[in-house]
Amino acid sequence: MEKTRKLRDGYQIPSIGFGTYPLRGEPGVAAVRRALQVGYRLVDTAFNYDNEAAVGRGIVQSGIPRGELFVASKLPGRYHERPQADHAIRESLWRMGLEYFDLYMIHWPNPSQGNFVQAWQAFLEAQEEGLIRSVGVSNFTVPQLLELERATGVLPVANQIECHPYFPQVEQLAAHAEMGIQTISWSPLGKASRPGDEPVLRVIAADRGVTPAQVVLRWQMQRDCIPIPKSGNPDRIAQNFDVFSFELTEDEVAQITALGKPDGRLFDGDPNVHEEM
Ligand code: NDP
Repeated sequence: MEKTRKLRDGYQIPSIGFGTYPLRGEPGVAAVRRALQVGYRLVDTAFNYDNEAAVGRGIVQSGIPRGELFVASKLPGRYHERPQADHAIRESLWRMGLEYFDLYMIHWPNPSQGNFVQAWQAFLEAQEEGLIRSVGVSNFTVPQLLELERATGVLPVANQIECHPYFPQVEQLAAHAEMGIQTISWSPLGKASRPGDEPVLRVIAADRGVTPAQVVLRWQMQRDCIPIPKSGNPDRIAQNFDVFSFELTEDEVAQITALGKPDGRLFDGDPNVHEEM
């Protein structure tokens, strides 16, 4: 397993990242610093997490050169229209103390508002200006992705979606692969649903001498997904990055995917109806 993957636009993105919601304040700074010290190079935040400043400070305190990091953030629903979208991109950068984002995403499509194409046009201009390197989205369905392409000729290079053993997103992943879109998995461990208690994960973990969480993260990576596990605990932060020294068989990957349930979402986060401002 390589440490990085190549996006369709040519940029490299780390194979695993650090999720930061709801880390804030000093504990947030410490968690980001810890994550960067143990080897993460991708950090995921969002305007709406109210922690872009804490994440930015953690980055500075880590002492890791900016050029070695991959920083991703997201535009809130209330700023899809222009010129608010243009201002929000700049405000996000200012909060973080950065000159550019490696990846900026539309956080949720909010179809009832119908403004995500405007936001996308703002992203494409910000990219021209050098404020964003790779343009992406989060929680977009396949028809919504195609709508962006129809309107602007440009598909996102990445889509960050809910993806974990209880909601493995088989069809969406296949569509992403066809369109050259990198999947980033949010709640990659299944958060509160605790798939780690599943016997199949316990058996595989015991066999490899790792934890069920590490098995789930490895499953993500072997399905070509980039997991962004969150932890505020120094040991678990390190444990979650320690997933490069073992491998799952194809059959084991399939067994974990088979844990999927039709109603496996963590909450009612169907992007056709769920909206976040
Ligand atoms: P995760 O699947 O990352 O789970 C986080 C939970 O698991 C925390 O309670 C954490 O507790 C615990 N945990 C972490 N590591 C381990 C471990 N090794 N063993 C046991 N428990 C562990 O869910 P999140 O919802 O936090 O998702 C990750 C990230 O995805 C977010 O931080 C955010 O950046 C992003 N996200 C994006 C969304 C979007 O709409 N684009 C929506 C939701 C999330 P502890 O901290 O105590 O270790």
